[in-house]
Amino acid sequence: MPEENVLIIGSGIAGFTAAIYAARANLNPLVLSGMPLPGGGGVLGGQLTTTTEVENFPGFEHGVQGPELMATVQRQAERFGTRVEQDHAASADFSRRPYTVRTVGGKTLAARAVIIATGASAKYLGLPAEQRLLGHGVSACATCDGFFFKGKELYVVGGGDTAMEEATFLTKFAARVNVVHRRDAFKASPIMLRRAQENPKIRFKTPYAVADVHGEAKVEGLTLEHAANGSRERVPADGLFLGIGHQPNTAAFPTLDKDEVGYLRADERTRCLSGGAVVPGVFAAGDVSDSRYRQAITAAGKGCAAALEAIRFLEETHP
Ligand code: NDP
Repeated sequence: MPEENVLIIGSGIAGFTAAIYAARANLNPLVLSGMPLPGGGGVLGGQLTTTTEVENFPGFEHGVQGPELMATVQRQAERFGTRVEQDHAASADFSRRPYTVRTVGGKTLAARAVIIATGASAKYLGLPAEQRLLGHGVSACATCDGFFFKGKELYVVGGGDTAMEEATFLTKFAARVNVVHRRDAFKASPIMLRRAQENPKIRFKTPYAVADVHGEAKVEGLTLEHAANGSRERVPADGLFLGIGHQPNTAAFPTLDKDEVGYLRADERTRCLSGGAVVPGVFAAGDVSDSRYRQAITAAGKGCAAALEAIRFLEETHP
């Protein structure tokens, strides 16, 4: 079995930034790019491919389309010798070197160093119209898409900190933000809940669930269902923001340490841990190990850091 220098798992901005650095160090990295999986996740190019315009990525004065940014970054990585394989990591063995990763496609890959950049997937409600209208009024990222809803009527689903943060942020643009939550009690921290409750542009609608999303080309309305008595009402809406949490994509790595919310635990040098000890040559970058910032630029930065660490590791172990 050929032994890869660096296997990068994930094709989002963290993975391909790591690939650019590893490729320019002549390491000929292999990117396992993921593929669409039943039930969501596994998107080639990561979360940026599910957004529209990215206006906060430095270097693009007038913004850039997320999918275009990712296509460019992939070509940039390939120009320096990155290889891309469209398959998905199913499991990994980090107990002996070279490390091995088994794929959904049935391959076993061996590598001296592994960078895990599998990202996180926003949780969705599972309504059919929700996926059809993604990017056309349905969003799971207020920071990415809020700007496009100036003066609009918006709905945010969820009762945690993400929902409160998204709702509060969206009031910068929207005429009104309605927070729909399935219970009367909230998981959100008291300070973030209070900030949202005190915002005159935010209205709370509890205990309700979003039962349907309406509109052909864009979101035009929602059906809300009372969580206790099942009564339904249809409301006009220009946008629906999901704030029901993210799921870090870590299923293939059960032996690595996670934080209390399930994200990979890595030290300040992006090194993964297992049982509290560094796993030499295994690094994490991007949203899979970041529940706090979750931005394209921070993911790219961590991808760079992980690659630099992998390069250093290989210089020490395979001079
Ligand atoms: P949470 O798990 O805290 O909250 C998710 C919310 O979504 C809950 O209110 C839950 O309802 C609701 N929900 C989940 N699934 C569904 C569903 N299918 N339909 C309807 N509602 C649903 O996730 P968050 O993303 O809000 O937060 C994750 C972590 O990140 C937390 O530790 C949080 O503190 C942290 N965070 C911190 C921020 C900050 O400090 N600035 C900002 C954002 C997040 P229910 O309550 O009924 O379970």
